[in-house]
Amino acid sequence: MENYYQPEIECASREQILAIQNEKLVAQVKHVYKNVKYYRDLMDKKGVKPEDIKSVDDLYKLPFLTKADLRDAYPYGLLGCDLKKCVRIQSTSGTTGRRVVAFYTQKDIDIWEECCARAIVAAGGSNEDVCQVAYGYGLFTGGPGLNGGSHKVGCLTLPMSSGNTERQIQFMRDLHSTILCCTPSYAAYIGETLKDMGYTPDDIDLKAGIFGAEPWTEEMRRDIEKSLGIKAYDIYGLTETSGPGVSFECSAQTGMHINEDHFIAEIIDPDTGEVLPEGSKGELVFTSLDKEAFPLLRYRTRDICVLSREKCPCGRTHVKMSKPMGRSDDMLIIRGVNVFPSQIETVLLKEGYSVNYMIEVDRAHNTDTLDVYVELTPEQFSDTVKAVAQKEKELAAAITQMLGIRPVVHLVAPKTITRSEGKAVRVIDKRKLHD
Ligand code: ADP
Ligand code: ZN
Repeated sequence: MENYYQPEIECASREQILAIQNEKLVAQVKHVYKNVKYYRDLMDKKGVKPEDIKSVDDLYKLPFLTKADLRDAYPYGLLGCDLKKCVRIQSTSGTTGRRVVAFYTQKDIDIWEECCARAIVAAGGSNEDVCQVAYGYGLFTGGPGLNGGSHKVGCLTLPMSSGNTERQIQFMRDLHSTILCCTPSYAAYIGETLKDMGYTPDDIDLKAGIFGAEPWTEEMRRDIEKSLGIKAYDIYGLTETSGPGVSFECSAQTGMHINEDHFIAEIIDPDTGEVLPEGSKGELVFTSLDKEAFPLLRYRTRDICVLSREKCPCGRTHVKMSKPMGRSDDMLIIRGVNVFPSQIETVLLKEGYSVNYMIEVDRAHNTDTLDVYVELTPEQFSDTVKAVAQKEKELAAAITQMLGIRPVVHLVAPKTITRSEGKAVRVIDKRKLHD
């Protein structure tokens, strides 16, 4: 049976959700216009007044907010209330080198934690569970967000933070953790370490994992599910919108429900800014609906995905977003071809390799080069040199077929590629160093 944390909201009718969104949007726009000079100036420049926004249908009239705006306004320029009312600051992990600080009032934190609680319950969590939070704690939103959600659900919370993987497994065994929260790359590493320590999934009590904060493929999901003996759920969010829990997966595992009572999602064409019809692939844009300290209207996430309103068997009615296939910043243009690292990951896992890989892009004689380093599994490592060379050729051919450009594949010894305890860094683009 499907459980919900807040069934009346999570399963509300479309009309009810729209009524909530309309009412909250009008108030949020007024709040921003009154308190955030930076955005008021943007609205004035566009000639939009708060009175022009009467419902969700008027959303398109509002100006976008971008990462560049956040950088300009750093640190206090987008603050929506008196600092005295704020109780917390969190910051991005800086994946794209742009630091963002976000502020929270106690009400903002309560809502954020409720969103995370919805995700935990959707993954089958209840007060019977021991929830091991192995996202980093600190400025990064992963640890604090899931920690708060776990408390709200009433799980026995194990605030491990990331790192010290053998101890993670020891506690997991001794304290019978049933839910694991961390990045998918760290979950894969924990699965690998479990095996290295001589255990099987039968030696632990985990039943579910809530993994997010970075892109991961369906192939990787299956690998993690197998190595830990669990069902693996996706969770999405970004510091700007509070953190993880903006959307989360349900038992259907076909996209993440966006918490529409707190956020309005739009998909736009990243080049023209035009709002695209439902079902189109484009850049995800969020409008917060009830944030006090760090309200963001029409914030461009740079994440590329698709929204769907197809009826979900779980009973939840909120719109679903597909797994982001990587952010527009992650997209590599190699010899004029658009390449997402996730496409390479898909091929590797399909061909029986591990998620331990590294992509290196460089430029030689005015031509882009693409090198893919992939770890052999211990079983594969015993192959002869000739057999390995043959495997490299086959893998290069499979990647060429997916991408349309040919990489040089290097199969390397087991355990030679650095493991990730947080967000994995899998691309080194050396071209940026030369330009
Ligand atoms: P940073 O931008 O420094 O990584 P955040 O920690 O706030 O800062 O990361 C938010 C970003 O992480 C999102 O915009 C998105 O690109 C990525 N992300 C978060 N959750 C997921 C997920 N479940 N799948 C894919 N990408 C995700
Ligand atoms: Zn669902």
